[in-house]
Amino acid sequence: MYASMPKVTTSNRLIDLRSDTVTRPTAGMREAMANAEVGDDVFGDDPTVSALEESVADLLGKEAGIFVSSGTQSNLTALLCHCGRGDEYIGGVNYHISSLEAGGAAVLGGISPRHLQLNEKGGLNAADVEGAIQADDPHYAVSKLVCVENTYSGMVMDQDEIQRTATVAHANNMKLHIDGARLMNAVVKSGTPAADLVECADSVSLCLSKGLGAPIGSVLCGPKDLIRQAHRVRKLLGGGMRQVGVLAACGLYALQHNIDRLAEDHANAWTMAQRLAEIPGLEIELDKVQTNMVWIDIAGEGKGSLSEHMLARGMITTEPFGAKRTTRLVAHLDFETADIDQVVDGFASWLGASK
Ligand SMILES: *Cc1c(COP(=O)(O)O)cnc(C)c1O
Repeated sequence: MYASMPKVTTSNRLIDLRSDTVTRPTAGMREAMANAEVGDDVFGDDPTVSALEESVADLLGKEAGIFVSSGTQSNLTALLCHCGRGDEYIGGVNYHISSLEAGGAAVLGGISPRHLQLNEKGGLNAADVEGAIQADDPHYAVSKLVCVENTYSGMVMDQDEIQRTATVAHANNMKLHIDGARLMNAVVKSGTPAADLVECADSVSLCLSKGLGAPIGSVLCGPKDLIRQAHRVRKLLGGGMRQVGVLAACGLYALQHNIDRLAEDHANAWTMAQRLAEIPGLEIELDKVQTNMVWIDIAGEGKGSLSEHMLARGMITTEPFGAKRTTRLVAHLDFETADIDQVVDGFASWLGASK
């Protein structure tokens, strides 16, 4: 999917539906950057970074947090803390950690991935996890960690199943990591506090650069001893950053201003999905449209390239990929309710449908 994404370098306003990572920092966020107090964070001197780490740890109900450059670095740091060479982690076959992080666990950590099929709701079945845990036998890698993702493809995970998965992991001397890149979307959708959603997890990664609208950064949270270890791992990965309070200030600003408004993104995605689902040739599973993403399978014949057609109309979309010719639309801070008409018109005209 990523290889087929059009590249955009213009600063003209285009409606960019590729991802919620495309938002640009707002005037308020830039002001927060300009005013941030900074220090050398490798020495632990940056007060803005420390404030961000404490805020996210509080939000997630964990003892400590560490600011890292990306969600990928956050997940990899967690993997390297929980597992060593010859260990394995259990995760979902389509998870970001499994398929979109360049195989970092194996390449850099000597950690074997063990990937399970996801259930209908996009989650791992606790029973499948239990069945996958390896016996203590010299033939096998050592099962050390279970990873779950919430939200997954915009879907909010079944909390009881996550709880059961944690129970299985802990009963087998394993840890649970939650890739909560978009956890706050799950929080806003479910109305459940973040700390409750991740209470059973031993580590949690939260992205600031997705729906929350910061230009960069994730925070990995967990117990103090794990985060202490994570400082060494982050350094090892080249992720020790210096006067980076200017970026942490964006994260703090995002926590204050951009959480509740995720409900607008969810409403926009839902309206878009409902209207697009009426166009012949587009197939949308509406029950999977739970937060800010709309997945569309294209059954009809469009006229030429979808992304070229949309770009000519001021919109950036991902070219359909895979056997079902799937494309994904993502609502975010820089997408407005008033843009929905243009999106619907774009798809309808591409398919030659009368609306
Ligand atoms: C985006 C994402 C990541 C990785 O974040 P980057 O900052 O792009 O490295 C990890 N997990 C999930 C679920 C994501 O959506």
